[in-house]
Amino acid sequence: MNIVLHQIPLQAIQDPKVLAAGIRLSVLREDLIHPEISGNKWRKLLLNIKAAKLARQTTLLTYGGAFSNHIAATAAAGSAFGFRTIGIIRGEATLPLNSTLSNAQSKGMLLKYVSRNAYREKESDAFTQSLHEEYGDFYQIPEGGANLMGIEGCQQIAENIPTTTTHVAVPMGTATTAAGIITAPEKKYVTLGFSSLKGDFMGNQLQMHLQCLSSAANTGAYELFGQYHFGGYARYQPALLNFINNFKQQHNIQLDPVYTGKMMYGLFDLIHSGYFPRGASIVAVHTGGLQGIAGFNERFGNLIEI
Ligand SMILES: *Cc1c(COP(=O)(O)O)cnc(C)c1O
Repeated sequence: MNIVLHQIPLQAIQDPKVLAAGIRLSVLREDLIHPEISGNKWRKLLLNIKAAKLARQTTLLTYGGAFSNHIAATAAAGSAFGFRTIGIIRGEATLPLNSTLSNAQSKGMLLKYVSRNAYREKESDAFTQSLHEEYGDFYQIPEGGANLMGIEGCQQIAENIPTTTTHVAVPMGTATTAAGIITAPEKKYVTLGFSSLKGDFMGNQLQMHLQCLSSAANTGAYELFGQYHFGGYARYQPALLNFINNFKQQHNIQLDPVYTGKMMYGLFDLIHSGYFPRGASIVAVHTGGLQGIAGFNERFGNLIEI
């Protein structure tokens, strides 16, 4: 059932300033795992899908916002592996559906919209009970795939990180992917987490994940950066969009505006400010999320060149 069919490419970035600083920077192209089930969303779903099959479940139910990469990935994975899928979507339905939701629906996902207030209680017993009354039995995956199997799936990202790597950069939403990279076996690198969200809860969120893991002894060094959120989740500023568009032109790698663009912007800012010693060998994990660009461009005007 593994759709990671090939070695994930590690693409070297040839940037004069980076090279002049004596730093090696590569991008781990997890975005190439699958066009629709890309990057960390596939890593987080894989073990959940295996568990659902083992439990003979035929329906996957999960939660997300209207532009969610996780909703897109769950719909596509459900269709690929023979599950009915139900997406509990935060907020009112707006027509026409944006490209994330119309693609999800075309993959067979049943969309149920709930008010923002109700969404906050989405994992309460009462709400879950009402979902069971409406839809019968289902395998429940938390928002963003943020459970223990999600973390363990993300530990596998490290299998493609060279042992000579000194730093691994990763974007953060629920901190699940970072938790996997930080606790991967036999690592020697320091993990650098870049939060896409405003607020100072990311460290606690990560701690919570790390405490859930029995491999707590395996926790490696890490540092979190909270200053590159550009106003918060799904917010942007011109400097971020310029960076994303320039990066695409120079390196032929598409970044997304919600996660990977902010991480890469932050990483370059750290490089330019002298954070890394000469000889550092950095791997930036491209966690995917490119499906979200169409919806972003629909919403804000074609700000991202594709
Ligand atoms: C969801 C997502 C993230 C955030 O991952 P978490 O495990 O929730 O921290 C990062 N990058 C992309 C592209 C994503 O879609």
